[in-house]
Amino acid sequence: MKLIDNFLEVLYPRDLTCVLCGDESDHELCDICKGSLQFNIGSVCRFCGRMIMKSDYEVCHHCKGIKRYYDRGLSVTVYDELSKKLLFNLKYHDKRYISHTIAKYMLDYIVRSDIDIDFDVIVPVPLHTERYKSRGYNQAELICNHLSYLSGLPISKALERRKHTKPLNKLTADERLVVLHEAFELSSKVEGNIILVDDIFTTGSTLNACSKVLKESGAGYILIITFAVGE
Ligand SMILES: [Zn+2]
Ligand SMILES: [Zn+2]
Repeated sequence: MKLIDNFLEVLYPRDLTCVLCGDESDHELCDICKGSLQFNIGSVCRFCGRMIMKSDYEVCHHCKGIKRYYDRGLSVTVYDELSKKLLFNLKYHDKRYISHTIAKYMLDYIVRSDIDIDFDVIVPVPLHTERYKSRGYNQAELICNHLSYLSGLPISKALERRKHTKPLNKLTADERLVVLHEAFELSSKVEGNIILVDDIFTTGSTLNACSKVLKESGAGYILIITFAVGE
C-alpha cells in the first residue's frame, strides 16, 4: 500500500458496510449496489451529459437555447435514488471517503469519453462560505483532491464565492447567470485547459457562471464533470 493510501485511509476511515444498502462490504459500495448505478451511456448531451436519443443530435431539450460558457459537460450517472443517496451521505453524513469512489468513477468516465484534450488543472466549484462553515468541507474539493492524486493534475482553488446568492428558482436562465456571475470571482489567474468539478448537475447555472469567470480570465477548454445529472 502506498503512503498516500495510508494517509487517505486515516483521513477517510471506512466502516465496512455498503453506504447504500448497509450490507457488509470491503468497500464503500457493495458489488450489488455498484452494479445498480445507472451510468449515462451511449449518446449524451454535450452540455449536461444526460442520455439523449440519437435524433436529438447533440443537445438535450434542457440545454437547448442556453448559452454555455464551457465546452463540454459530462455526468457519470443518472440522478436516481442510488446516486442521490450516495451524494447525500457524502454531503450531509460526513462520509467524506465517498469522494474517493466518485473521483475514480469520474476519471474513468473522462478517459473513456471521446474527449481528447490535454488538461492542465482541476478546479472545484466553491461552496457558500456559510455552508462551508456548517459542513466543514466542500464535497467538490474532496473529489478534486482524489482526482488530482489519480490523474497527477494540479488543483486550483482560485474560484471564490463572493456572497450568498439569493434563491434562484424563480429566475430565468439568463437572470440566474447574471446573479451567479456576480457571485464568483478569481483569487488568481487560471489558464490552460480546465476540468471544473461539482457533485451534481441540475440546471447547470452555477457551473455556467463559474465557466464564464474562468473564460474571462483566459481559460482554454473547459470540461465540466459531475457525478450525477438531474431528471
Ligand atoms: Zn450495497
Ligand atoms: Zn443537456
